[in-house]
Amino acid sequence: MRDVVSPSLRRILCVFPKYSPSFGTFEYAYPLTDGVQAFMPPQGLLLIAASLPAGWEVRFLDENIKPATDDDFIWADAVFVSGMHIQRPQINDICRRAHEHDLAVALGGPSVSACPENYPDFDYLHVGELGDATYELFRRLGRDTARPDRQVVLTTKERRDMADFPLPAYELLPLNKYFIGSIQFSSGCPYQCEFCDIPALYGRNPRLKSPEQVIAELDKMLECGLAGAVYFVDDNFIGNRKAALELLPHLVEWQKRNGYAIQFACEATLNIAKRPEILSLMREAYFATVFCGIETPDPDALKAMSKQHNMMVPILEGVQTLNGYGIEVVSGIILGLDTDKLDAGEGILEFIDQSQIPLLTINLLQALPRTPLYDRLKREGRLIDDPDRDSNVDFFLPYEHVVSTWRDCMGQAYTPEKLFARFEHQVRVTYPNRLQLPNGKQRLSWRNIKRGMTMLSNIIWHVGVKSDYRRVFWKFAWPRLKTGDIERVISVGLVAHHLIVFARDASSGQQNASYYSTRLRDMPVAAE
Ligand code: SF4
Repeated sequence: MRDVVSPSLRRILCVFPKYSPSFGTFEYAYPLTDGVQAFMPPQGLLLIAASLPAGWEVRFLDENIKPATDDDFIWADAVFVSGMHIQRPQINDICRRAHEHDLAVALGGPSVSACPENYPDFDYLHVGELGDATYELFRRLGRDTARPDRQVVLTTKERRDMADFPLPAYELLPLNKYFIGSIQFSSGCPYQCEFCDIPALYGRNPRLKSPEQVIAELDKMLECGLAGAVYFVDDNFIGNRKAALELLPHLVEWQKRNGYAIQFACEATLNIAKRPEILSLMREAYFATVFCGIETPDPDALKAMSKQHNMMVPILEGVQTLNGYGIEVVSGIILGLDTDKLDAGEGILEFIDQSQIPLLTINLLQALPRTPLYDRLKREGRLIDDPDRDSNVDFFLPYEHVVSTWRDCMGQAYTPEKLFARFEHQVRVTYPNRLQLPNGKQRLSWRNIKRGMTMLSNIIWHVGVKSDYRRVFWKFAWPRLKTGDIERVISVGLVAHHLIVFARDASSGQQNASYYSTRLRDMPVAAE
């Protein structure tokens, strides 16, 4: 399948579109760092870049760091783009700019795979994962790079085995410009939550890389300058528990070998709390945070959305169990569910107080194509296509009430007092359970020390001196600084600043109530 006939060498320009500021991408923290400009390296496009036929040249631009210029387009024979739904305006803008240079443009990735009809202007659509469609695209471009007369849709039927994936082309990007590194171990999830498109897009039987591949990728990321943390972007890290258990000892060994140079994070279902054997290995491998889609504390709502697996242990107990292994829980919460009552916001705020989870992404329900929710709401005539709304769902509750509940939750949950109190809780009950890391040369390298000092001085200046919540910050930071826990002041200071600023925008109506909404995002996008 991989033997691409390529009579001509080609120059491929890979362009990853800019994100609009969002809750989960930490833009407001970047000015406090040592030059971070983007959230995560784009895994999918890096994988495609690494899969190009031998001899083809590639230039890779993440427009969150540097926009593609006329010179880049003039250099290229064809342009590859990838992106998610929230990047749709920027995705289309790259297509427009490439066409100004009469270049053929191909689009792949999660957004086009779910909704090819959203991208009529592209020359090639690559629907699905790396596989036969990818190699057909290479073959066609190898023969002819001219724009085809009409759009060509290539759909992957035979996926390339993940165990056979090449190492993503991390060397093409400045990894030190990213807030966090990313890696993929598995794809797919065995569950079928009503609102989620993962099972339809990537299957219910998780496919896997080998532990050796993961280790080779981590080695390569370190060589390419990554520092800080690496996020496993798998939809569910324990989608295949046996495989996770096989991988973890390799991660533990890798950390020991590399002096615990980085910390890990991942996404997993909350029933991970029932797996002490996995959690204790995660502790050993220094997993510091796990994102759990808790969605709602209401058991009836969880049942209605087919997320009963969240109830395998009482939710608060599950959170405490993870904290007991030194793992801070990050949670997703959804508002606008059919089961929500008028006082749903109060229930969420109460849950936040009880769980003491510092970081929760609160979003309005959105019906994504290729989900059971989308199909049901379509049948019920409850899908609304209105760019002025933050959700395409016709809620049972009045729309304005749902949005104002969201604003209220954001405003109340992220006051500096509340947020730092939740971090104080983590300092007491979670962080002491983490592995005590050795102060080896990898962690205390000159580069890391310089990086830490730059961030600390930025935080002290922008938050400790200039911000209006400096008193709350110092109440948290001063005891830590006195004991030399600088790392904590930096990590909490960065994240808290982003959350506080974003939540203020949100509660005053300057941010969208849904990750997927384009209401405030349909602004002109930067070309140059
Ligand atoms: S557990 Fe997570 S990834 Fe799996 S179907 Fe549910 S929401 Fe999607």
